[in-house]
Formats: sequence, structure tokens, C-alpha cells
Amino acid sequence: MTASTGGFPTVFGRGLVGELPAFVQRPYLVVTMADLWPRFESSLAGPHMAGVHLVTTLDLDELEATLGGLPAFGGIVGLGGGQALDVAKFFAWRTRRPLFQVPTATTVNAPFGHRSGLRTGGKVRYLGWAIPQAVYIDFDVIQSAPPALNRSGIGDILCYHTAHADWRLAQDTGNVEKRWPYDEELVAQARLRLDSVLAHLDDIREVNETGIRTLVAGHRWGGTTFHDSGWNPRHIEGVEHFFFYNLERLTGRHFIHGQPVGLGICVGSALHDDGLDAMIAAIKRAGVDIRPEAMGVTWDDAAEAMRTLPAYVREAGLWYSVANARPVTEDTIDLVRERVTSAFGAWNPPAVPA
Ligand SMILES: [Zn+2]
Repeated sequence: MTASTGGFPTVFGRGLVGELPAFVQRPYLVVTMADLWPRFESSLAGPHMAGVHLVTTLDLDELEATLGGLPAFGGIVGLGGGQALDVAKFFAWRTRRPLFQVPTATTVNAPFGHRSGLRTGGKVRYLGWAIPQAVYIDFDVIQSAPPALNRSGIGDILCYHTAHADWRLAQDTGNVEKRWPYDEELVAQARLRLDSVLAHLDDIREVNETGIRTLVAGHRWGGTTFHDSGWNPRHIEGVEHFFFYNLERLTGRHFIHGQPVGLGICVGSALHDDGLDAMIAAIKRAGVDIRPEAMGVTWDDAAEAMRTLPAYVREAGLWYSVANARPVTEDTIDLVRERVTSAFGAWNPPAVPA
């Protein structure tokens, strides 16, 4: 049996941002994004705010350099999507200040993990340690975010499908890491969250309270289980994230996490020959568009990220997955493109006025 803390303290409600100045250690630093700040400034700015840091980078060296220029502060409020919350975690870790997290959308599980997903030399590194005093899920705040950001949160839970297939494959072929032998109990725990999401795809598409609670419950568990399982990522992440990292590396684009991860789930499912159509149907029903054009890249980019995946995972030293076991053939690339296009339709760019 694997010990579990059950996740960080998480509070659901409304009007939660306006309460923060009453209890966050003073003066507090707000870490958020430039596009969000105007909306929350009137609730947080005032005599008890030390300053606001608007996030522009996840680069470790740049963030280290930023630290010295921050004003003195007693507590930190992270307010935003994955990036703002990851940087808030990083500052909390480096300054040992208490942290309060307010996700503005259900895009990723970042609010619920101990480490920050930062970048060094284009590589993702999960670094640091921060347990927030609380994570506040404000229904009004979440529901006012672009629906695509919220729905995209399925990526960090549906990815268990390909992660589990990778883990089984590694175990069955004798390639599993010594420290991460296949663990039926962990897979079963993850599967519970995956099934819950599959049962609430319509709620998630509608971004209603049930949909928000379903995604948050999955992210809350998924965020802490990495630590709680002894820093084992195998039941929660695999080839689908590797595809995303490679696509990010090749294109230099910033993505809404669930889109490239969702496409990566399709790539992984195709390579495993396991559940490709079911995964596409689930992703589509939740309203997440995984066509490359919908995320600002092309099918050529996506194809290149598939083609170079085996080389990338070796170079990056990622754990054993189907990308190590099976070649990514042009047939596989065509299959993914054909199935995604038949589910979502061909991309019709918005007409540009003459
Ligand atoms: Zn993820």
C-alpha cells in the first residue's frame, strides 16, 4: 500500500480572492500574469501588498536573477495558470515564505505539485519544494477564464492511459527501472481519476461546478502522487508528455498544455495500438481541439515531433516508453493525422478580410 497525503488543502467557493489581504502574511508578493493583473488589482493592491511580479519566463537562470530584485515580503500569492503558480512556488521555495495559490483555470495540475516545472536549456526540470497553505478554487474566477483553458485540464489526467501502457510495456519487456517496478495499486488509484474524468466529459466541456470539481480532484491527486509515490512519475506521465516536450523544443511555441499532451496521447495510443479512437472521442467530447493548427503549429511540425521522438527521448534521458520500443513510421504518423482529422474535421482557417 502506498502512503498518500490526499493532496494539498483545497478550498472551493466564491469571492475568495478578495479575502486574501485579510490573512496572507504581510506585506505579500503577488505572482501573476500581465493579462490577469488588471482584473485582480483592485482586490489585492493596497498598503499590505509588497509588490507584484508579472511572469515572463520559466527559465531557471532568469528566475534566479529576478530573486534579488524582489521587494521584501512576508507571504506569496500565486494567481494564474500553470506558469504563475510554478513561479510562485519557486519564489516560495527560495525565500521560505508561506504560499497561497489561486488557480484562475483548471489547465494543469501545477497548483497541486510540490515542485515547479521550470526550463533549463530548453529541458523541463521539476525543481523545488512548496506546500501551499491552501489552494483556492473560486468558481466565478474559473468560469470566467476562456473555456479552452479549463477543458484542457483533461490532458493531465487522460495521459494516465498512455502512461500506464508505457509502464506495462516496460515491465513486460524487462526494461522497467529498478526503482519503479510496475505497481498495480498506483495504477488503480490513477485509473479511478481517469474514469471519473471519462464519466464527466460533458460537465468538463460545460465548465460547470461538477466539471471543475472533477478536474480539480484529479489534479489534486495527480499533483502530489509524484512525491507520495517516492518521486515515481510512471503512473501519471509517459510518452504523451515526451511528445509535448519534443514539440515545444522543435517549435519554440508556448502551448495550452492539454492540446499538445492530448495529441501526444493519440500518438502514444497509436504506437501502443491501444485505445486511439476512444481517446480521440473523449478529448473531442470534452471540447479540446488537438489539431496542430488549433495550437498554432502545423501537421508538418507534429509529424516531425513524432519522427524525432525516439531520438529525443534517448537524448533527454527520459524513462522507457513505447518511443523506445517501437519505430515511429510514416504509417503511424498518417494514422494519427487521419483519425484526428476525421474526428475534428479539416482545419478551415478563419477568413481574412481583404
Ligand atoms: Zn502535464
